[in-house]
Amino acid sequence: MAAPILQIENLRTHFHLKGGTLRAVDGLSLTLEEGKVLCIVGESGSGKSVTALSIMGLVMPPGRVEDGRIAFRGTDLLTLSEKEMRKIRGNNIGMIFQDPMHALNPAFRIGDQIAETMLEHLDIGKVEAKERAIELLGHVGIAQPDRRYVDYPHQFSGGMRQRVMIASAIACHPDLLIADEPTTALDVTIQAQILNLLSALRAELKSAMILITHDLGVVAEMADDVMVMYAGQPVEYGDVETLFHRPQHPYTRGLLNSLIRLSDHRETRLKPIPGTPPDVLDMPEGCRFRARCAYAVERCENEAPALRTGPDGHPVACHHVDEAHGLPDGGGP
Ligand code: SF4
Repeated sequence: MAAPILQIENLRTHFHLKGGTLRAVDGLSLTLEEGKVLCIVGESGSGKSVTALSIMGLVMPPGRVEDGRIAFRGTDLLTLSEKEMRKIRGNNIGMIFQDPMHALNPAFRIGDQIAETMLEHLDIGKVEAKERAIELLGHVGIAQPDRRYVDYPHQFSGGMRQRVMIASAIACHPDLLIADEPTTALDVTIQAQILNLLSALRAELKSAMILITHDLGVVAEMADDVMVMYAGQPVEYGDVETLFHRPQHPYTRGLLNSLIRLSDHRETRLKPIPGTPPDVLDMPEGCRFRARCAYAVERCENEAPALRTGPDGHPVACHHVDEAHGLPDGGGP
Protein backbone atom coordinates (compact mmCIF):
# COMPACT_ATOMS: atom_id res chain seq x y z
CA MET A 1 0.00 0.00 0.00
CA ALA A 2 1.39 3.40 -1.06
CA ALA A 3 1.99 6.06 1.62
CA PRO A 4 -0.94 8.37 2.27
CA ILE A 5 -0.45 11.90 0.99
CA LEU A 6 -3.57 13.13 2.79
CA GLN A 7 -5.31 11.89 5.89
CA ILE A 8 -8.42 13.57 7.19
CA GLU A 9 -9.79 12.61 10.58
CA ASN A 10 -13.20 13.54 11.88
CA LEU A 11 -13.41 16.87 10.04
CA ARG A 12 -16.23 19.14 11.15
CA THR A 13 -16.78 22.41 9.29
CA HIS A 14 -19.78 24.41 10.42
CA PHE A 15 -21.34 27.72 9.45
CA HIS A 16 -22.85 29.77 12.27
CA LEU A 17 -25.83 31.53 10.73
CA LYS A 18 -28.60 33.62 12.27
CA GLY A 19 -31.08 30.76 11.80
CA GLY A 20 -28.83 28.16 13.41
CA THR A 21 -25.71 26.12 12.76
CA LEU A 22 -25.21 24.62 9.32
CA ARG A 23 -23.15 21.47 9.74
CA ALA A 24 -21.77 21.46 6.20
CA VAL A 25 -19.20 18.76 6.98
CA ASP A 26 -19.96 16.72 10.04
CA GLY A 27 -17.48 13.98 10.83
CA LEU A 28 -15.52 13.14 7.69
CA SER A 29 -12.46 10.90 7.60
CA LEU A 30 -10.57 9.75 4.54
CA THR A 31 -7.16 8.60 3.35
CA LEU A 32 -5.70 9.43 -0.04
CA GLU A 33 -2.65 7.56 -1.29
CA GLU A 34 0.06 9.02 -3.53
CA GLY A 35 -0.99 9.19 -7.17
CA LYS A 36 -4.56 7.99 -6.57
CA VAL A 37 -7.82 9.64 -7.56
CA LEU A 38 -10.54 9.93 -4.96
CA CYS A 39 -13.93 11.08 -6.22
CA ILE A 40 -16.30 12.63 -3.71
CA VAL A 41 -19.89 12.36 -4.90
CA GLY A 42 -23.27 13.47 -3.63
CA GLU A 43 -26.07 15.89 -4.36
CA SER A 44 -25.75 19.67 -3.91
CA GLY A 45 -25.33 20.59 -0.27
CA SER A 46 -23.79 17.25 0.71
CA GLY A 47 -20.58 18.91 1.91
CA LYS A 48 -18.30 18.07 -1.03
CA SER A 49 -17.12 21.59 -1.85
CA VAL A 50 -16.79 22.61 1.80
CA THR A 51 -14.51 19.60 2.28
CA ALA A 52 -12.26 20.96 -0.51
CA LEU A 53 -12.29 24.49 0.94
CA SER A 54 -11.43 23.07 4.38
CA ILE A 55 -8.37 21.29 2.96
CA MET A 56 -7.26 24.47 1.18
CA GLY A 57 -7.78 26.63 4.28
CA LEU A 58 -10.30 28.73 2.37
CA VAL A 59 -13.37 28.46 4.63
CA MET A 60 -14.53 32.02 5.30
CA PRO A 61 -16.60 33.33 8.25
CA PRO A 62 -19.26 32.58 9.32
CA GLY A 63 -17.81 29.18 8.43
CA ARG A 64 -15.18 27.56 10.62
CA VAL A 65 -13.39 24.25 10.91
CA GLU A 66 -14.57 23.20 14.35
CA ASP A 67 -12.76 19.96 14.80
CA GLY A 68 -10.59 17.35 13.16
CA ARG A 69 -7.21 16.91 11.54
CA ILE A 70 -6.12 17.38 7.92
CA ALA A 71 -2.66 15.84 7.61
CA PHE A 72 -0.88 16.61 4.33
CA ARG A 73 2.33 14.57 4.18
CA GLY A 74 2.08 14.27 7.95
CA THR A 75 1.62 18.00 8.69
CA ASP A 76 -1.73 19.02 10.13
CA LEU A 77 -2.81 21.88 7.86
CA LEU A 78 -5.22 23.11 10.53
CA THR A 79 -2.28 24.09 12.75
CA LEU A 80 -0.61 26.28 10.08
CA SER A 81 -0.78 30.06 9.89
CA GLU A 82 -2.30 31.76 6.84
CA LYS A 83 1.23 32.64 5.67
CA GLU A 84 2.28 28.99 5.89
CA MET A 85 -0.90 27.87 4.09
CA ARG A 86 -0.20 30.33 1.25
CA LYS A 87 3.11 28.51 0.63
CA ILE A 88 1.25 25.22 0.28
CA ARG A 89 -1.68 26.50 -1.82
CA GLY A 90 -0.76 26.63 -5.49
CA ASN A 91 2.59 24.99 -4.78
CA ASN A 92 2.03 21.61 -3.10
CA ILE A 93 -1.76 21.58 -3.52
CA GLY A 94 -3.39 22.96 -6.66
CA MET A 95 -7.07 23.71 -6.92
CA ILE A 96 -9.33 23.84 -9.95
CA PHE A 97 -12.62 25.60 -9.24
CA GLN A 98 -16.00 24.99 -10.81
CA ASP A 99 -16.20 28.50 -12.22
CA PRO A 100 -12.84 29.74 -13.53
CA MET A 101 -14.29 33.25 -13.99
CA HIS A 102 -14.37 33.55 -10.21
CA ALA A 103 -10.87 32.19 -9.76
CA LEU A 104 -9.21 34.23 -12.52
CA ASN A 105 -8.72 37.95 -12.03
CA PRO A 106 -10.58 39.74 -14.86
CA ALA A 107 -8.17 42.70 -14.68
CA PHE A 108 -4.99 40.72 -15.36
CA ARG A 109 -3.65 39.05 -18.49
CA ILE A 110 -4.13 35.29 -18.64
CA GLY A 111 -0.43 34.50 -18.99
CA ASP A 112 0.64 36.83 -16.19
CA GLN A 113 -1.74 35.08 -13.79
CA ILE A 114 -0.07 31.73 -14.45
CA ALA A 115 3.43 33.25 -14.30
CA GLU A 116 2.53 34.94 -10.99
CA THR A 117 1.84 31.56 -9.36
CA MET A 118 5.30 30.36 -10.34
CA LEU A 119 7.04 33.58 -9.28
CA GLU A 120 5.42 33.24 -5.87
CA HIS A 121 6.46 29.64 -5.29
CA LEU A 122 9.44 28.78 -7.50
CA ASP A 123 12.94 30.19 -7.55
CA ILE A 124 12.75 31.55 -11.08
CA GLY A 125 12.81 34.98 -12.72
CA LYS A 126 10.17 36.80 -14.78
CA VAL A 127 11.53 35.73 -18.16
CA GLU A 128 11.55 32.06 -17.26
CA ALA A 129 8.11 32.31 -15.63
CA LYS A 130 6.72 33.81 -18.84
CA GLU A 131 8.34 31.12 -20.99
CA ARG A 132 6.96 28.39 -18.74
CA ALA A 133 3.49 29.98 -18.71
CA ILE A 134 3.42 30.00 -22.52
CA GLU A 135 4.57 26.38 -22.53
CA LEU A 136 1.83 25.47 -20.05
CA LEU A 137 -0.85 27.24 -22.09
CA GLY A 138 0.20 25.18 -25.10
CA HIS A 139 0.29 22.03 -22.98
CA VAL A 140 -3.33 22.43 -21.88
CA GLY A 141 -4.47 22.93 -25.46
CA ILE A 142 -4.53 26.71 -26.00
CA ALA A 143 -3.63 27.37 -29.64
CA GLN A 144 -1.02 30.07 -30.33
CA PRO A 145 -0.15 30.33 -26.64
CA ASP A 146 2.45 33.08 -27.12
CA ARG A 147 -0.23 35.32 -28.67
CA ARG A 148 -2.96 34.36 -26.21
CA TYR A 149 -0.68 35.02 -23.21
CA VAL A 150 -1.62 38.71 -23.29
CA ASP A 151 -5.39 38.17 -23.48
CA TYR A 152 -7.75 38.81 -20.57
CA PRO A 153 -10.14 36.18 -19.14
CA HIS A 154 -13.21 37.71 -20.87
CA GLN A 155 -11.55 37.06 -24.25
CA PHE A 156 -11.57 33.31 -23.57
CA SER A 157 -14.51 30.87 -23.80
CA GLY A 158 -15.61 28.92 -20.70
CA GLY A 159 -13.70 25.82 -21.80
CA MET A 160 -10.53 27.80 -22.51
CA ARG A 161 -10.77 29.55 -19.13
CA GLN A 162 -10.99 26.14 -17.48
CA ARG A 163 -7.86 25.08 -19.39
CA VAL A 164 -6.10 28.21 -18.06
CA MET A 165 -7.27 27.34 -14.55
CA ILE A 166 -5.79 23.86 -14.97
CA ALA A 167 -2.51 25.32 -16.31
CA SER A 168 -2.33 27.56 -13.25
CA ALA A 169 -3.13 24.68 -10.87
CA ILE A 170 -0.37 22.45 -12.28
CA ALA A 171 2.21 25.22 -12.81
CA CYS A 172 4.23 24.22 -9.75
CA HIS A 173 3.74 20.45 -10.18
CA PRO A 174 1.58 19.98 -7.06
CA ASP A 175 1.53 16.64 -5.27
CA LEU A 176 -2.21 16.97 -4.82
CA LEU A 177 -4.77 18.43 -7.21
CA ILE A 178 -8.28 19.24 -6.02
CA ALA A 179 -10.86 19.73 -8.76
CA ASP A 180 -14.27 20.94 -7.62
CA GLU A 181 -16.89 20.14 -10.27
CA PRO A 182 -14.42 21.20 -12.99
CA THR A 183 -16.80 20.52 -15.87
CA THR A 184 -20.21 21.48 -14.47
CA ALA A 185 -20.30 24.92 -16.08
CA LEU A 186 -19.32 23.60 -19.53
CA ASP A 187 -21.27 22.06 -22.40
CA VAL A 188 -21.05 18.32 -22.94
CA THR A 189 -18.40 18.28 -25.70
CA ILE A 190 -16.10 20.60 -23.77
CA GLN A 191 -16.71 18.57 -20.59
CA ALA A 192 -15.29 15.49 -22.30
CA GLN A 193 -12.25 17.45 -23.52
CA ILE A 194 -11.51 18.83 -20.07
CA LEU A 195 -11.88 15.40 -18.46
CA ASN A 196 -9.52 13.90 -21.03
CA LEU A 197 -7.04 16.68 -20.32
CA LEU A 198 -7.24 16.12 -16.55
CA SER A 199 -6.83 12.40 -17.04
CA ALA A 200 -3.75 12.86 -19.26
CA LEU A 201 -2.17 15.38 -16.88
CA ARG A 202 -2.74 13.16 -13.89
CA ALA A 203 -0.98 10.28 -15.62
CA GLU A 204 1.86 12.59 -16.62
CA LEU A 205 2.33 14.43 -13.31
CA LYS A 206 1.50 11.43 -11.09
CA SER A 207 -0.26 13.81 -8.69
CA ALA A 208 -2.91 12.52 -6.34
CA MET A 209 -6.32 14.00 -7.06
CA ILE A 210 -9.56 14.71 -5.26
CA LEU A 211 -12.29 15.12 -7.83
CA ILE A 212 -15.59 16.50 -6.59
CA THR A 213 -18.55 15.73 -8.78
CA HIS A 214 -22.21 14.80 -8.82
CA ASP A 215 -21.68 12.92 -12.07
CA LEU A 216 -21.24 9.17 -11.66
CA GLY A 217 -20.17 8.89 -15.30
CA VAL A 218 -17.14 11.03 -14.41
CA VAL A 219 -16.49 8.84 -11.37
CA ALA A 220 -16.49 5.68 -13.51
CA GLU A 221 -13.93 7.28 -15.85
CA MET A 222 -11.55 8.74 -13.31
CA ALA A 223 -11.78 7.27 -9.81
CA ASP A 224 -9.66 4.77 -7.95
CA ASP A 225 -11.70 5.29 -4.79
CA VAL A 226 -15.09 6.88 -4.16
CA MET A 227 -16.60 8.57 -1.15
CA VAL A 228 -20.36 9.09 -1.21
CA MET A 229 -21.54 11.98 0.98
CA TYR A 230 -25.04 12.77 2.17
CA ALA A 231 -26.09 15.79 4.28
CA GLY A 232 -22.53 16.53 5.41
CA GLN A 233 -21.51 12.98 6.23
CA PRO A 234 -19.82 10.12 4.39
CA VAL A 235 -22.22 7.21 3.92
CA GLU A 236 -20.11 4.83 1.83
CA TYR A 237 -16.43 4.75 0.95
CA GLY A 238 -14.54 2.23 -1.14
CA ASP A 239 -12.78 1.36 -4.36
CA VAL A 240 -14.68 2.22 -7.52
CA GLU A 241 -15.17 -1.38 -8.71
CA THR A 242 -16.74 -2.58 -5.47
CA LEU A 243 -18.82 0.52 -5.03
CA PHE A 244 -20.27 0.40 -8.54
CA HIS A 245 -20.87 -3.33 -8.63
CA ARG A 246 -21.85 -4.02 -5.03
CA PRO A 247 -23.13 -0.75 -3.50
CA GLN A 248 -24.38 -1.27 0.05
CA HIS A 249 -25.89 2.05 1.11
CA PRO A 250 -29.45 2.77 -0.07
CA TYR A 251 -28.36 6.27 -1.15
CA THR A 252 -25.49 4.92 -3.29
CA ARG A 253 -27.89 2.44 -4.86
CA GLY A 254 -30.29 5.30 -5.54
CA LEU A 255 -27.56 7.36 -7.22
CA LEU A 256 -26.55 4.42 -9.38
CA ASN A 257 -30.17 3.70 -10.29
CA SER A 258 -30.51 7.29 -11.46
CA LEU A 259 -27.82 6.77 -14.14
CA ILE A 260 -28.89 6.35 -17.73
CA ARG A 261 -27.67 2.93 -18.77
CA LEU A 262 -26.30 3.36 -22.27
CA SER A 263 -25.72 -0.39 -22.48
CA ASP A 264 -29.49 -0.89 -22.52
CA HIS A 265 -29.48 0.34 -26.18
CA ARG A 266 -32.70 2.17 -25.54
CA GLU A 267 -33.69 5.40 -23.98
CA THR A 268 -34.01 4.83 -20.27
CA ARG A 269 -35.74 7.37 -18.12
CA LEU A 270 -33.73 8.84 -15.27
CA LYS A 271 -35.03 7.47 -12.01
CA PRO A 272 -34.57 10.22 -9.44
CA ILE A 273 -34.24 9.42 -5.76
CA PRO A 274 -37.60 10.35 -4.23
CA GLY A 275 -37.67 13.22 -1.73
CA THR A 276 -35.13 15.92 -0.95
CA PRO A 277 -32.17 16.18 1.44
CA PRO A 278 -33.02 17.33 5.00
CA ASP A 279 -33.09 20.98 6.10
CA VAL A 280 -29.43 21.79 6.69
CA LEU A 281 -30.30 24.00 9.66
CA ASP A 282 -32.50 21.37 11.25
CA MET A 283 -30.92 17.97 10.75
CA PRO A 284 -33.14 15.09 11.91
CA GLU A 285 -32.17 12.74 14.72
CA GLY A 286 -31.07 9.29 13.66
CA CYS A 287 -30.15 8.56 10.04
CA ARG A 288 -30.19 11.69 7.87
CA PHE A 289 -31.31 9.67 4.85
CA ARG A 290 -34.29 8.19 6.69
CA ALA A 291 -37.06 10.25 5.07
CA ARG A 292 -36.00 9.04 1.60
CA CYS A 293 -35.08 5.48 2.49
CA ALA A 294 -37.27 2.51 1.57
CA TYR A 295 -35.24 0.28 3.91
CA ALA A 296 -35.80 2.44 7.02
CA VAL A 297 -36.76 0.70 10.26
CA GLU A 298 -37.68 2.09 13.67
CA ARG A 299 -34.06 2.16 14.83
CA CYS A 300 -33.19 4.59 12.01
CA GLU A 301 -35.39 7.26 13.64
CA ASN A 302 -33.34 7.81 16.76
CA GLU A 303 -29.95 6.21 16.20
CA ALA A 304 -27.47 7.64 13.70
CA PRO A 305 -25.67 4.79 11.89
CA ALA A 306 -21.90 4.76 12.31
CA LEU A 307 -19.60 4.14 9.37
CA ARG A 308 -18.56 0.49 9.78
CA THR A 309 -17.06 -2.20 7.62
CA GLY A 310 -19.56 -4.00 5.40
CA PRO A 311 -19.38 -7.50 3.93
CA ASP A 312 -17.11 -6.36 1.06
CA GLY A 313 -14.64 -4.79 3.48
CA HIS A 314 -15.53 -1.16 2.76
CA PRO A 315 -17.19 1.26 5.21
CA VAL A 316 -20.93 1.89 5.01
CA ALA A 317 -23.18 3.91 7.35
CA CYS A 318 -26.41 1.93 7.50
CA HIS A 319 -27.97 -0.10 10.31
CA HIS A 320 -28.62 -2.99 7.91
CA VAL A 321 -24.95 -3.37 6.96
CA ASP A 322 -22.17 -4.92 8.98
CA GLU A 323 -19.34 -7.37 8.36
CA ALA A 324 -21.75 -10.29 8.13
CA HIS A 325 -24.73 -8.65 6.41
CA GLY A 326 -25.25 -6.57 3.31
CA LEU A 327 -28.27 -4.48 2.41
CA PRO A 328 -31.22 -6.86 1.86
CA ASP A 329 -32.56 -7.25 -1.68
CA GLY A 330 -35.66 -5.34 -2.65
CA GLY A 331 -36.77 -1.99 -1.31
CA GLY A 332 -34.54 0.94 -2.20
CA PRO A 333 -35.30 4.20 -3.84
FE1 SF4 B 1 -31.97 3.66 5.47
FE2 SF4 B 1 -31.89 3.15 8.09
FE3 SF4 B 1 -29.83 2.51 6.53
FE4 SF4 B 1 -30.41 5.05 7.08
S1 SF4 B 1 -29.75 3.50 8.55
S2 SF4 B 1 -29.84 4.22 5.12
S3 SF4 B 1 -32.62 5.02 7.10
S4 SF4 B 1 -31.90 1.66 6.46
